[in-house]
Amino acid sequence: MIGFRSYMETALAEARAAGARGEVPVGAVVVAPDGRVVAAAGNRTRELNDPTAHAEVLALRSACAAAGAERLPGHDLYVTLEPCPMCAAAISFARIGRLYYGAEDPKSGGVAHGARVFAHPQCHHAPEVYDGIGADAAARLLKDFFAGRRD
Ligand SMILES: [Zn+2]
Repeated sequence: MIGFRSYMETALAEARAAGARGEVPVGAVVVAPDGRVVAAAGNRTRELNDPTAHAEVLALRSACAAAGAERLPGHDLYVTLEPCPMCAAAISFARIGRLYYGAEDPKSGGVAHGARVFAHPQCHHAPEVYDGIGADAAARLLKDFFAGRRD
């Protein structure tokens, strides 16, 4: 079985590609129960003029389209940054089994910070959450990106 680190490596590659496009460098990967990567995406909010085009949302849309289903039970989602409240809600709606994320996001995150969507009584499905996977690399990408934009 391919380890979770290699899935996060794929998510990090998506994050780097997003940064190269001028997008906030966040990447996400959806893995099927049999271990296949069924979707990979990076942020495209600027390119698509779409505030909802976060990496997680794009990856979920793509994985659902491939599966021909609105839910992805037993699937795992890997993302380089703690999901925001919108993405956390989408992850819940998609019935994702396990969420692995890299860097924490005290400013905009909605899992361990802020809205803490999965801990909310209105949340009908919460994935198992594993944080800190590849966190250093993900945080460095974001830091470099925002440092570069201040030039
Ligand atoms: Zn988001």
